[in-house]
Amino acid sequence: MVSVTRRSVLATLLLAGACAGPRTTPTPDVMGIPVVSAHAARLYRDAFVIDTHNDMPTRMLDDAYDASVRHPAGFGRGEGNTDLPRLMESGMTAEFLSAWVDAPYARRRGDSFARAVRYVEAIREFTAKHPGQLRFATTAADVRAAKREGKVAIFIGLEGGHAIEGSVEGLRDLYARGVRYMTLTWNNGNSWAGSSIGAGGTRKGGLTPFGRDVIQEMNRLGMLVDLSHVSDSTFFDALAVTTVPVIASHSSARAINDVPRNLSDAQLRAIAKNGGVVNVNFYSRFLDPAFRARAEEVDRAIARERRALPAGTDSAAARTRLGAMRDSLMARIPPTPFAVLIDHFDHIAKVAGVDHVGIGSDFDGVTALPVGMEDVTALPRIAQALIDRGYSDDDIRKMLGGNMMRVMTQVLDRQAALP
Ligand SMILES: [Zn+2]
Repeated sequence: MVSVTRRSVLATLLLAGACAGPRTTPTPDVMGIPVVSAHAARLYRDAFVIDTHNDMPTRMLDDAYDASVRHPAGFGRGEGNTDLPRLMESGMTAEFLSAWVDAPYARRRGDSFARAVRYVEAIREFTAKHPGQLRFATTAADVRAAKREGKVAIFIGLEGGHAIEGSVEGLRDLYARGVRYMTLTWNNGNSWAGSSIGAGGTRKGGLTPFGRDVIQEMNRLGMLVDLSHVSDSTFFDALAVTTVPVIASHSSARAINDVPRNLSDAQLRAIAKNGGVVNVNFYSRFLDPAFRARAEEVDRAIARERRALPAGTDSAAARTRLGAMRDSLMARIPPTPFAVLIDHFDHIAKVAGVDHVGIGSDFDGVTALPVGMEDVTALPRIAQALIDRGYSDDDIRKMLGGNMMRVMTQVLDRQAALP
């Protein structure tokens, strides 16, 4: 999840001439959007297709987004990358819906945990409302059953370890409610784990002794340890403690785009050694160095605007205006080509091995996606693009979800089978 702001036509008018001219929509062949062949469609349809990070629940809670009906693809209010009709159309087998607990909930005792529970309830309600299409899932066996029944398996992933409020009991409670992975931190670190960003001056270092207890308890319960968002030292500390494979639910390759949220080649190799899976994040700013450079220019322009605000300016109104300005500038950045997304799959497959790559879209949690990857229904294009890069059908099945099935069977099903 990254924070979502809204575009404004007014700000676009205000800013006319402030940067390069309006974006023109490129033709598909120029942007290299793969055309899905019969072979790719069949391969995709028969495979387990698993996406390990989707923020649609935040739209449901904060934007009154009715996930049961179709919406246009987009990032604004009333738009989205995911909903029930498009989940079914996508042909995917399993989706991890994110229970993302924003950093400010950590300020007051009880709020983070309550927020996580609210997400869990919303996700379970949505799933229960559509028994003919969705199946609530906690194991790989549930995914196999969903596949047989032609349903989409819905998992809950908790994003932000501050939600357990420093308590193993809190962790157990959320497990009992159906949560099957926990991202140890979000952009904010917490009392026991450091994040890659350290937002608001929070922890950026490694795991504390209690943090190691948390990993051991997750192993014992059968909850996946998710190392997306964590600091490099927490990443390696967690790998030293865990006795089972881990995941990165939505992280890409730092060798292609050097941002702290992506994983270095050393980290990719460490996850391979652990037997885990790195699930590629689709956010343009994490994928594409050209997009990121332009986005950083926008950040600097907005910072200059903020510094130039006259004293006494109403801060809420100023924030809204600057947010709209930022969105309109961001919307003018040339979109990321589809091939850049596939470069990350390719790089992780080459460095970590083809057994350690998966899909972690971050749909509905990001504000820019590669052209041709506008919503969940575009996922089959990944199968085609990987065929075009020379991967075998077996390798592609692994990357689409086979690797996650291996890890989920090892971590979730083994524990579920215990008395
Ligand atoms: Zn995230």
